[in-house]
Amino acid sequence: MTGFDPSSIIPPAQDWAADAACAEVGGDFWHPDRGEPTAPGKRICARCPVRVECLQHALDNDEQHGTWGGMSEGERRLLIRRRRAEGDSAAVVAA
Ligand code: SF4
Repeated sequence: MTGFDPSSIIPPAQDWAADAACAEVGGDFWHPDRGEPTAPGKRICARCPVRVECLQHALDNDEQHGTWGGMSEGERRLLIRRRRAEGDSAAVVAA
């Protein structure tokens, strides 16, 4: 009989989050109200060293709201649709 492995139910640590540019900036530019501009958050994402990891996290976890990896929810939906249409569901972020 083997022992219980708690790591089997605990998601891996989000190591990339420690390097997130948004962690160094006050305010929440990544969850604007409807009609509010997304550009301020995206400008910070553009210089973020973990932008790809952040975007992949959002796609993997079906994040429906906010800006992740420099993309709004609408842009992520478009990306997913485009990649699926290309038959490349395994590499949504790779391009
Ligand atoms: S890409 Fe944007 S939202 Fe994601 S961690 Fe970086 S600054 Fe934050």
